Amino acid sequence: MNSTVEWHGLSGLNMNKNLEHQPACQYCDKFLRPGTELNRAKWDVPVLETDHFVVVPTVGMLVPGWLLIISKKHHANLASLSKVEVQDFLHARDITKDLLQRTFGMPLFFEHGPCLKQQNAGSCIDHAHYHAVPWPKDLMPLVSRDFKWNLVGNFNAVQKSYTAEGAYLLYENHDGEMFCSHPKKVPSQYFRQVIAREIGRPNDWDWAVFPEYETIEITQSKFLAAGKRFCPAK
Ligand SMILES: [Zn+2]
Ligand SMILES: [Zn+2]
Repeated sequence: MNSTVEWHGLSGLNMNKNLEHQPACQYCDKFLRPGTELNRAKWDVPVLETDHFVVVPTVGMLVPGWLLIISKKHHANLASLSKVEVQDFLHARDITKDLLQRTFGMPLFFEHGPCLKQQNAGSCIDHAHYHAVPWPKDLMPLVSRDFKWNLVGNFNAVQKSYTAEGAYLLYENHDGEMFCSHPKKVPSQYFRQVIAREIGRPNDWDWAVFPEYETIEITQSKFLAAGKRFCPAK
């Protein structure tokens, strides 16, 4: 069963329903805390919203159209979502995929993994979020040089894998196949580093240093131009 989807047309409404936020978390602070929409930078305005997720352009997008699917409730990682949230997450993933396919190209998805302080798996921010990156080819040939990956049947298997083995990286290809890895140590913002290398900017992977505001503005304008034509049916 699908949840309600709202196309924001960049206005960012209804952000503050049923939220549990965590102080001192950048995502809670920027997107989810009541009142934040009033002071939000224009690139931080969500593109889509479902019952349990917001979809926003990411600061530091190395390619246009790079979005984040962020949980409204503060969770350390996607594997910690409740059953209801998982269903809504997969729905948010599907409509994001559809939107990107129609605008910037077929996306790949990944999660930098969870956030046990003693077990750094390279997350950008310790709040559950899924990266959606328009990217024409499979990254598995590249990322399998660095880590061993297991094909997991579905998202429940990712959660089982997290319970059994802890910190993880998650990667999803164009066909919707999900792969999990449990490396001991991961470079910071690992997938961003891989993509930065692939676009010939190997040193520009850190979003905090290279926020790429211009690319975000290009992205927002394109979504705006696309307008409600891409609004999924309510
Ligand atoms: Zn948070
Ligand atoms: Zn991340």
